[in-house]
Formats: sequence, C-alpha cells, structure tokens
Amino acid sequence: MVPIQMVDLKRQYNKIKPQVDAAMLEVLESAAFINGAPVQQFAQELGQYLGTRHVIPCANGTDALQIAMMALGFQPGDEVITPSFTFIATAEVIALLQLKPVFVDIDPKTYCIDPQAIEKAITPKTKAIVPVHLYGHSADMDSIMEIAEKHGLYVIEDNAQAIGSDYTTKNGITKKAGTFGHIGCTSFFPSKNLGCYGDGGALFTDDDALAAKIRMVANHGQSARYYHDEVGVNSRLDTLQAVVLRIKLQQLDSYIAARRKVAAAYDAAFAGSPYIITPYQAPNQVHVFHQYTLQVEGKDRNELQAYLAAKNVPAMIYYPVPGHRQKMFEGMTETNQHLPVTDTLTSKVISLPIHTEMDPEQLEHIIASIQSFLN
Ligand SMILES: *Cc1c(COP(=O)(O)O)cnc(C)c1O
Repeated sequence: MVPIQMVDLKRQYNKIKPQVDAAMLEVLESAAFINGAPVQQFAQELGQYLGTRHVIPCANGTDALQIAMMALGFQPGDEVITPSFTFIATAEVIALLQLKPVFVDIDPKTYCIDPQAIEKAITPKTKAIVPVHLYGHSADMDSIMEIAEKHGLYVIEDNAQAIGSDYTTKNGITKKAGTFGHIGCTSFFPSKNLGCYGDGGALFTDDDALAAKIRMVANHGQSARYYHDEVGVNSRLDTLQAVVLRIKLQQLDSYIAARRKVAAAYDAAFAGSPYIITPYQAPNQVHVFHQYTLQVEGKDRNELQAYLAAKNVPAMIYYPVPGHRQKMFEGMTETNQHLPVTDTLTSKVISLPIHTEMDPEQLEHIIASIQSFLN
C-alpha cells in the first residue's frame, strides 16, 4: 500500500506532470517571472469559474485578508468580528492592522461562525464581519449578509478552505462560496483544494471601485506608475504559480468530486457509530471537504490520534488552540473567555486524510483502524 498522507500532492502532480512541466518551462524561457501573461489569464479564468467580476491575485491567503482590510480603509481601534475556531491568519491580520479582533462562537453543526453570536457582539465600533468557510463548508451567508446590511457592516469571506463550493440562498440563487460578501479571500497554499506549488492567494469582488482599490493596495499603493497615493504592500502571484493554477483550475471540479467520494465513504462507514459525529452538510450547500473532520464522543480523541499514528494513519487536530486562547492576542482583545461550542469542539475534533488520490485499500485501512479503536 502507498503510504497514507493527509494530502498526496506528489501523486496528484504525476497525473498533470506533462502539462505542468511544459508550462513551467515556457515561463522559464520567457523569463516573465513577475506579472507574466498567465497571471491575468488565470485571474480571468478564476473569475469566470467563480462568477465574479474581479479576481486580484496576490502572494498568499494571509495577504489577501490583510489587503482586503486595508482596501476598506479600517482604522486602528475598529472592531472586526470573526470566529475563534479557525486558522490563526484570519485574526492575526486584524490585530496586525491594529484593529480589534472580536472572537465569537460557532455553530456546532457547521463549525462556522454563529450568526446569533455576531449580532450580540456588534458595537458602534464594529466595521466588519469575517466569516470563515471552515473545512470546505460555508457559513450561513443568508443570515450573515442580512445582519451586515442591517448594521451597515462589511463582509470579508475567508474562503481559503471552500473554493468551488456551491451555496444556494434562500431566494434560490446558487453562487460560489466567497462571492456573497464585499470581498472574498482565498489561498493557493499547496495543500488547499486549489493549491499551487509555492505560495499564492487572491481576492475577489464584484465592486469595480473596490477592485481598483485592492489592486492599488497590493501594488505599493500606486495609482499611476511611480505615483503612490497610500501606504500599501507588495503582494503578487508569481507567473510560475499562475501556470500551475491555470492547469489545476481545469481539474478543480474533478478534485472536488474525488474528495466528496472519500467523504461519502467515511460517512457510510461511521454512520451508525455512537462515538462519532460525521460532518454536517447543509442541504443548500455542496461541501468541498478541504478537511473531513469528525467529532469523537465518549472516547478520547487524542488516544484515537495516537492509535492511528501507530497504524501509519496520519490524523490532525485543526485547530488545537482557538484564537481566543492564543497568547498573541492578550491585551488586544478579550481572551480566555468561555466560548462553549469552540472550547468543546477543540477537544473533540479530528481530521482524517482526504485528498484527490486516495486508493480504495488506503481508505479501507483508515476506516478499519478507526473501527478497531472504537470497538
Ligand atoms: C490557509 C488559510 C489561510 C492563509 O493562507 P496562506 O496562503 O497560508 O497565507 C487563511 N485562512 C484560512 C482559513 C486558511 O485555511
């Protein structure tokens, strides 16, 4: 059996190797390493795929979030509401810009920000909500957009984990995750569902003026060549990464289908278990399973992880320390408050290997190992 990994990027590459190698060579020959034609071609193609007017590539997903908040002109002391149960980048950039991250709890089913908790956290200083579409399943965007409109807030979607996911609104309109708020942000980190071979990221928006502002911020605050209107950043997607992403974007729907197939096999295997809660999928969404994350009940999650490791089955805890318990935010916002759902889930969740190259025998071994631990 091929060794099991959380994500098997090598075997995925092998399947597209001729195309990728040729495209990479072409970039080397052209020497257009920065802002080569493929960067804009990719941006256009991703815009078409997502159904959004503007895609602005940048250097990574963390930069995308930072650039979004800079482009919206938030000022030090402004408050931004975000879930605590997420990767650190989401709240880190809020703090980096001297804004105040306001951590709220999540919905126990979706693992995403709880709209009711958002409403309770709004103050006169609140400027924005940053929902995170965790593990590949969107937050409740119908409710979030309603709350944002009611209170005049911006919505920046952290879509690093849910690219390609479909969401149908209560009015019956189906759109891609990340295209509901004012700005969507994503990451092309190699292990993400649409990953490149290094770092990369992008912002998307339908707002022409905001798109222009984002482009300016991402390019040294430059309005015309060598005229800099604001302090910005330097954040670009390399041409080499753009050619990889153009090829992989063609495969994204089949990559999602492959992940969903693995998820369905796990769902079926654990459906009857009293010790396991399988991931929830809202009926109006297509979960893209960036992670397949179980909740373990009545058994020790850490013991399960160790048991699996001994059977050469990797499993990860995303994330072992939630934002509101991270040292970095001490003195910047309320920390160590009790967020009951987040705190409980932190001790129960475990993510299993899921990727586009899983063999049936690998899947069987993972499932059998979990079952033998539980029995
Ligand atoms: C990966 C990720 C990011 C950051 O992306 P980078 O490209 O690594 O900077 C931000 N938010 C979430 C939820 C992520 O999963």
